[in-house]
Amino acid sequence: MAALLLDGRALATRLEAQLADLISAGLAKAGRPPGLAVLRVGDDPASGVYVANKEKACGRIGALSFGAHLPANTPQAQLEAELRRLNADPAVDGILVQLPVPEGLDDRALLLALDPDKDADGLHPLNLGRLVRGEAGPRSCTPAGVMALLKTAEIPLSGARAVVVGRSILVGQPMALMLQQADATVTVAHSRTKDLVALTRQAELLVVAAGRPGLIGAEHVSPGTVVVDVGIHRRPEGGLCGDVRFAEVEPLAKAITPVPGGVGPMTVTMLLLNTVRAWARSHALAYPLPLL
Ligand code: NAD
Repeated sequence: MAALLLDGRALATRLEAQLADLISAGLAKAGRPPGLAVLRVGDDPASGVYVANKEKACGRIGALSFGAHLPANTPQAQLEAELRRLNADPAVDGILVQLPVPEGLDDRALLLALDPDKDADGLHPLNLGRLVRGEAGPRSCTPAGVMALLKTAEIPLSGARAVVVGRSILVGQPMALMLQQADATVTVAHSRTKDLVALTRQAELLVVAAGRPGLIGAEHVSPGTVVVDVGIHRRPEGGLCGDVRFAEVEPLAKAITPVPGGVGPMTVTMLLLNTVRAWARSHALAYPLPLL
């Protein structure tokens, strides 16, 4: 039987429609739409595409985007001052620093300069701490998007054996914490893990965020596994691929995310969700979307 396709594009479209409705319903009371500010430093070409996608997504739901694009040689102190200005700007509900920043800049200090309640990416240390403690707060967008996909597809997580491949602060770590909070039993694999195949074959849920094209093949996956592929890579011959060899793994899987169209679109939607939630909170508006 073919695997269930965990369609991030379709879910992102549905959630965006709900966010758009929420904004139009709250606009009169709030007196302004939600605002997302993106701070981009330097000219990393991939970042340019990501920032443009985020701005377009804001437009689709009726939120405003405020872009600040500063040259790579901007001093750290000036960037932190810009973030403090955005923290104080009442039209801005969400702020993100587009990573990576150019060499020589301290991205940790930039994240620390954010108002944690406007932290649209959920990467401020306070919000990572809130996640560890299971307290409410903006969540890291990519793993939150994965949780939304799993929840929507009604994948049972309680008591499930989950393996997360990758332990980055951006994806793997928060992913493992979110799955634990959903009562999965989680193992985290990384580049020093011995016998990855033996480990991943035990998984009922396998989330792969290794940043290695095609790392996971049929030999890593037991029949009936739910497979989530976070990796995104540009193929030399054109097009995108993930960390999972989709054609090999799909026939074995119970459910699987495609690349593109799986986790990627959900990441941007979660960014919007964090921003709209902060806007709703600051205007005491009802926020009927579930806390994903
Ligand atoms: P990263 O390089 O910071 O971390 C990769 C992790 O994988 C590390 O912890 C490393 O130990 C582990 N790893 C590397 N090789 C491994 C191996 N052979 N076996 C086991 N573990 C291994 O990367 P990241 O920022 O976490 O991103 C991971 C991937 O996800 C990248 O392809 C990135 O482009 C993609 N990504 C996608 C989205 C999205 O929206 N879909 C968002 C963020 C990142």
